[in-house]
Amino acid sequence: MAGSRQEEDRTLTDRTVSPKPHDEDKSFDLSLRPKRLAEYIGQERLKDNLGIFVAAAKARGEALDHLLLYGPPGLGKTTMATVVANEVGVQLRITSGPAILIPGELASILTSLQKGDILFIDEIHRLSRIVEETLYPAMEDFALDMMLGKGMAAKPIRLRLPRFTVIGATTRYALLSSPLRDRFGATYRLDYYDQQALEQIVVRSARILGVTIDREGTAEIARRARGTPRLANRLLKRVRDYAQVRGNGAISREVADEALRLLDIDQSGLDEIDRRVLRTIIEKFDGGPVGIATIAAAISEEVDTIEEVYEPYLLQLGFLDRTPRGRVATRRAYEHLRLPTPPISPVEAEQPRLFD
Ligand code: ADP
Repeated sequence: MAGSRQEEDRTLTDRTVSPKPHDEDKSFDLSLRPKRLAEYIGQERLKDNLGIFVAAAKARGEALDHLLLYGPPGLGKTTMATVVANEVGVQLRITSGPAILIPGELASILTSLQKGDILFIDEIHRLSRIVEETLYPAMEDFALDMMLGKGMAAKPIRLRLPRFTVIGATTRYALLSSPLRDRFGATYRLDYYDQQALEQIVVRSARILGVTIDREGTAEIARRARGTPRLANRLLKRVRDYAQVRGNGAISREVADEALRLLDIDQSGLDEIDRRVLRTIIEKFDGGPVGIATIAAAISEEVDTIEEVYEPYLLQLGFLDRTPRGRVATRRAYEHLRLPTPPISPVEAEQPRLFD
């Protein structure tokens, strides 16, 4: 299972439009990552709420309540954890669900925390059950239950922990157990960014990177960034490289368009795999409805990958619909792929909807 997940991660990171981090993004992400709330673009509702949350905790001189952030990858969950730590003025410790293999590892992280510190747990839905159960009393009572010694002589002990804050992040809220969900004082969903916010992100990043870009070039990159800041930054970087090699280094609409076309990213930000998902539904299954497992098998992808990575953006664009009997390609998908639309769109025929 672990092997297949790694393979899946590898294929994902090969895609230019994968919202998951590429290795090359790491230093790049760091330099472009906003540090304060005022620099964090978009997600207005989240910022308003967190602004109040932080100010109230600071005024009381208490640690923040535990916080859960969820939403597709690359939307700024880690960034928000960094911002919150900076605003409160505490240390941030970053880890992830799959990185903590045994309760002892969690215990060593927790015992190294100082009062008020923030522990960011990315992909918190991937914590093992036994580690998750160790986390419950730590979050609730700031205590760690451990066994001292081995075998018959082992004695349970309870270690006190300083008051700290967990910021959990997940791309799969539905996979979180309800006891874990219940331990968070507040839960927020991050939404895809709109065109205006993405343009602001491109402008800010271009300024930091010292890239010359005009309004149309900015708009073109933002439009194809799939509502995702990490992608806006990555596309900007790719287009900058293209502009340096093929042009005079400045990014205009034409330069952005040519560079992105070369990367096979279309006007809506879809790449070959997205189009394959849609084409498969349309051409092999008459537009659907078709089950996710069948689509996955037809294009040799993991069900998880489709649900976590491709599908959310196709749903957001209104190219795909989820119905009780499976996925359906919408009329817009036919139009986007320039395929003749069926007489009655399968969506119109498909009632009622199961998911909204
Ligand atoms: P997630 O944790 O949700 O996968 P990250 O927080 O790692 O996403 O964000 C990826 C990158 O996108 C960051 O390094 C940062 O450069 C950029 N980014 C994310 N959110 C914002 C934002 N609101 N404003 C500006 N840049 C952002």
